[in-house]
Amino acid sequence: MKKLALHWKILIGMVLGIVFGLIMTGVDGGAGFVDDWIKPLGTIFVKLLKLIAIPLILASLIKGISDLKDISKFRNIGLRTMVTYIGTTVIAITIGLLLVNVLQPGDGVSEETIAKLTETYANESGVQGKIAEAGRQKSSGPLQFLVDMVPDNAFHALSNNGLMLQVIFFTILFAISMLLIGEKKAKPMKDIFDSLNEVVLKMVDLIMLSAPYAVFALLASVVVSSEDPDLLIALLKYSGVVVGGLILMVVFYLIVVGTYVRKNPFWFLKQISPAQLLAFSTSSSAATLPVTMERVEEHIGVDKEVSSFVLPVGATINMDGTSLYQGVAAVFISQALGFDLSFADQLTIVLTALLASIGSAAVPGAGMVMLVIVLESIGFPADKLAIGLALIFAVDRPLDMCRTVINVTGDATVSMLVAKSVGKLGEPNVKEWDDHYEEVK
Ligand code: ASP
Repeated sequence: MKKLALHWKILIGMVLGIVFGLIMTGVDGGAGFVDDWIKPLGTIFVKLLKLIAIPLILASLIKGISDLKDISKFRNIGLRTMVTYIGTTVIAITIGLLLVNVLQPGDGVSEETIAKLTETYANESGVQGKIAEAGRQKSSGPLQFLVDMVPDNAFHALSNNGLMLQVIFFTILFAISMLLIGEKKAKPMKDIFDSLNEVVLKMVDLIMLSAPYAVFALLASVVVSSEDPDLLIALLKYSGVVVGGLILMVVFYLIVVGTYVRKNPFWFLKQISPAQLLAFSTSSSAATLPVTMERVEEHIGVDKEVSSFVLPVGATINMDGTSLYQGVAAVFISQALGFDLSFADQLTIVLTALLASIGSAAVPGAGMVMLVIVLESIGFPADKLAIGLALIFAVDRPLDMCRTVINVTGDATVSMLVAKSVGKLGEPNVKEWDDHYEEVK
């Protein structure tokens, strides 16, 4: 019998997880059961993915740069990546702002809904936590992000998933130095990292065997902890605008894939879909990164020399979905609370949402922290911040799931685009977890 494709298995796991979550919501003690007995399976899966992220970045970036054999090629890839990332993010924010200004979802929110949402969430630890976190991030100087990118202890950076940019910085410096000591002397190092890279990619294959069960657990636990359905319905128009914008962004990516990269857009979607489904289930681009890298390299054919740089950097700084959401959310909150925005304010949103997407961590809920900074940049009254966030808090998790899909799809699209532009888009070379199983079983 033909094996069911991975994305179908994951999709079935997701649907069953949602159904199971809905059933358990209606059962007495059901939510507790899911939290105690089902959720841990999802948590273990996310931990496994994060476990291999740093070894994978290290090995694949070193392999990627040392295979280039030429520093100027790397500079070229780096420059194209940055320019494209900024370009796609600005397009995303512009789509968001256009939609929210035309459709005006904030005008339809009644005083009653605002009062109810404020009462429910404004003093909630979730909302207050985001404001406090934003305060911490903002109190630093304008060049702090550069300072933060440079580690003062390589082993500390390598042992901390939150320091992805530091890991990338160290690894690039290491790999360039390897090129500079000459091929002969660098060979032992290169062999080690080439082999490490193969091993870690095999770990991705193994971990992915459990993906259909893990997404079942992840979605069941999201469903049992979701908010009051009445509140979700009150925010339907706002959520619709965010989701509509995100869908337009996918259409944009597909056009780029079809026209510039000259690949069938639906083929692209099929190849990348397991990473998208995991992004949706985990709400974390960082946790999804190993799978994104595996799909883009083995299933799409992007050369490691490109993907090993473009994808880890993208997971940390390129968040098209998050910045689109920030644009929509900032204007929605202003509309609902009667805070007038000028054209200059909207331009400020473009700029700060761009910077915020660079600064947002690739973890669940990070986009909302940066939203506080976007709101402050347009002079939104500080005493109304909590009310503003309370308005959108109820739907943040489902929207986070959706925007993370776009963040990951955007990274994959840009990696294809950059690869195409430097002649590094080859043919897929799919490896299965059991390619060598017969030899060792
Ligand atoms: N969860 C998103 C990500 O990991 C970030 C955010 O928008 O909150 O890409």
